[in-house]
Amino acid sequence: MADSLEQIAAEVSACTLCPLQHSRVKAVPGEGPVNAQIMFIGEGPGFHENQSGRPFVGAAGNFLVELLASINMKREEVFICNVVKCRPPGNRDPEPTEIAACAPYLDRQIELIDPTIIVTLGRYSMARWFPEARISHIHGKPRRSGKRLIVPMYHPAAALHQPSLRQEVVDDFLRLPQFLAEARQIGDSPGEPADQQTENTKPDQPQQLSLF
Ligand code: URA
Ligand code: SF4
Repeated sequence: MADSLEQIAAEVSACTLCPLQHSRVKAVPGEGPVNAQIMFIGEGPGFHENQSGRPFVGAAGNFLVELLASINMKREEVFICNVVKCRPPGNRDPEPTEIAACAPYLDRQIELIDPTIIVTLGRYSMARWFPEARISHIHGKPRRSGKRLIVPMYHPAAALHQPSLRQEVVDDFLRLPQFLAEARQIGDSPGEPADQQTENTKPDQPQQLSLF
């Protein structure tokens, strides 16, 4: 049977692959249309997400909605998810083993949605593509991975508490429409070497874009 977002969500709800199954009230697989052009990947569900089964519905989520509004987008137009689909107890950081256990679900979501741009929110999703990078150095700088662009950004929750980071996120967000236009051109141009590259499920080696 062909894979689907619903199938992934069903598997996540019953998943026992890592210890976070025990702190789960509701699994939070992620939400948004399968044809979304932009995919946002955060860290993991917090209290409100765990209660509702929906990603980014607390304070960080409200900020994300505001940021989307700044570029005339609604949350219904984008796909929003996390590196771990169940809540770490007390909002602790997810462990590397938990992120690894959960990665196949995220891999399948990326494969199905095939987004033009992936925006990583915070360190944990950034580390999937840029394991060595520091967010203070690379936030807002898109890099190409296969045919898509990966755009690292600060996590909205961190930005909410630090006015200087907040302005960085606001500024990085305002450049997303331009990145989207650039990324579509990469995808549209046949014969570009990037078109022959397919994204594998392992963290790959993104290249710094010369365009930006
Ligand atoms: N923070 C995250 O990283 N993800 C959520 O879903 C909510 C808050
Ligand atoms: Fe399964 Fe991911 Fe939940 Fe761990 S966090 S139990 S791997 S769905």
